[in-house]
Amino acid sequence: MKIYLDNASTTKMSDAALAAMTSALKEDYANPSSLHSMGQRMKELLETARNDVAERLGALPSEIYFTSGGSESDNQAIISVAKSALKTGKKTIITTAFEHHAVLHTLEKLESEGFTVKYLPVGKTGNVSAEQVAAAIDEDTCLVSVMAANNEIGSLLPIKEIGAVCKDKRVPFHTDAVQAVGHVKINVNKQNIDLLSLSAHKFHGPKGIGALYARRGVRLKSLIEGGAQERGKRAGTENLPAILGMAAALKEETSNIEANAKKITAMRDKLIKGLSTIPHSVLNGDTKNRLPGNVHFCFEGIEGESLLLLLDSYGIEASSGSACTSGSLDPSHVLLAIGHPHEIAHGSLRLTISRYNTDEEIEQTIPAVKKVVERLRNMSPVWRDKVNGVKPFLLP
Ligand SMILES: *Cc1c(COP(=O)(O)O)cnc(C)c1O
Repeated sequence: MKIYLDNASTTKMSDAALAAMTSALKEDYANPSSLHSMGQRMKELLETARNDVAERLGALPSEIYFTSGGSESDNQAIISVAKSALKTGKKTIITTAFEHHAVLHTLEKLESEGFTVKYLPVGKTGNVSAEQVAAAIDEDTCLVSVMAANNEIGSLLPIKEIGAVCKDKRVPFHTDAVQAVGHVKINVNKQNIDLLSLSAHKFHGPKGIGALYARRGVRLKSLIEGGAQERGKRAGTENLPAILGMAAALKEETSNIEANAKKITAMRDKLIKGLSTIPHSVLNGDTKNRLPGNVHFCFEGIEGESLLLLLDSYGIEASSGSACTSGSLDPSHVLLAIGHPHEIAHGSLRLTISRYNTDEEIEQTIPAVKKVVERLRNMSPVWRDKVNGVKPFLLP
């Protein structure tokens, strides 16, 4: 039996999303740009999906652009605002040290082109405050990009307050809300958001589809040249089956958001409680403001990769939480940002829960993790040195 606890990487598609996609894949195959009646019907389906996505974010349909996912939305949001600011001469972008690589690598590219990026520290708890953002903004600031929820350690950031600071200082505010949408309530107006990235496969929709919300008045630049789809901001024939799947998934998840969060949070807290009894370990991320489904620990004296492989042999599918490709020895930038030394950062485990998980699965996972941690520690010479007092313990 398999226990899938890697829902921050991607999620299983819901029946609602599958049903919406299947009919489009089988029958609704015309191009929405075609003038014949089937094409025009596809155009209607496309615009209905846009209305649905907009409504669930509190946005206008004309403010929603369909993209290939979270990475593309992040790239387009940041590059559009930065390049538009060139004519004002403003060249500083404010972000956090623990953004997703889709944001960080886009910003690195802009740094190489002459922009300045300020990376706000996220402290031991892994969060930033609106006051930190306010203090960092100056007359050279052209953009603030702060994620709504961290994909590794699950911190929920004070987006509404950060948005209010940006609004007050008239600086455009982008949020990578890929981990938040469908899991916690998002409303672009109430939360003062100017640009927002989302991705369907993180909320039980299909992969390879996402959206960028851009408030009316924000000028987008297209990353892909070609046809006039998406009002000239994203060329290419629309992926209508995926768009319909995404809209169906978003409707379903946002309709049940409170009940799902309650159920998932209860499983999360049970798992955290169970794993907290492992000595020389630490729960990472903000303990109070935390995604319903995120559990993230570091265990001293353990290699994350070995932990994952052994858990897999028990049928538990987990992650180290670090997005780095296997083979790389670099520890997670997120764990370094919250102040862990390399040794501790290497021993990480991320277990992310969805509404498809059960209490029983959580109950089976707790002893399995304990057993695997113990087994790996017993095999480790470094651990033996610590136990014998030759090397100090770093975690209580
Ligand atoms: C998954 C993820 C992305 C990338 O989304 P894709 O649709 O896979 O490109 C970006 N940001 C965050 C926070 C994510 O979790």
